[in-house]
Amino acid sequence: MRLFEQAEAKVRRLRRLASPLIWAGGTVHCPLCERSFRGFRPAGKRRTRRANAVCPYCGARERDRLTHLFLTSPDGPAPGSPILHVAPEACIAPRLRELAGGGYVTADLVRADVDERIDVMAIPHADATFHGVYCSHVLQDVPDDIAAMSELHRILKPGGWAILNIPVTAPVTVDHRDVPGRVRRPGDRRPDEHLRTYGRDFPQRMATAGFDAHVIVPEDLATAQERIRFGIDTTAAGSVYLGVKSQ
Ligand SMILES: [Zn+2]
Repeated sequence: MRLFEQAEAKVRRLRRLASPLIWAGGTVHCPLCERSFRGFRPAGKRRTRRANAVCPYCGARERDRLTHLFLTSPDGPAPGSPILHVAPEACIAPRLRELAGGGYVTADLVRADVDERIDVMAIPHADATFHGVYCSHVLQDVPDDIAAMSELHRILKPGGWAILNIPVTAPVTVDHRDVPGRVRRPGDRRPDEHLRTYGRDFPQRMATAGFDAHVIVPEDLATAQERIRFGIDTTAAGSVYLGVKSQ
């Protein structure tokens, strides 16, 4: 199995190197790396496979491209420090570093390539430490998302912001932590994932944790033509869920 995984990693590396050449063209544009292509790479496996999803150069997905537009828009968060980036996406990091000035901190429960190993349900930081938090597509995998959001709210300074994007695929949130959507193989130390399927009531959950909740949709950030060009004219782009801590 190990040999197979190594071979798979090698194929992935080669594909990453070759992708910008294979997808050379000018039809779509990635606002993160500011490069154009004839299309975005597909994402997902078999049943969940979707076309026009991943930037061939920087790996940004639909949701990353949407949130980057918000982070760089006049209505986006003001610069300030420090900023905590949970389960950090490499493509989003440059903009967060820019907003944070010197104070950019990465964190994850199990990854080794981060500044801090933390459990978002019990964050080892004092109240009112951070100016901003970026925590995208994490909460669906956390056993108690309200506890996690309450912690993220606690460590924010008054007036601070948190981007708490999640996949919304149901009318109302369903908690199914006893039947996870993704169960790890025996020996895999990483926790099971998809313990919850979120619905359109997610802003109420943010409010329960103390946030002023704001939902920003693709139409707020780009024209119809731009949405096609940036590849965010699809439900996979989702929405930006912005939580603000009252002053
Ligand atoms: Zn890109």
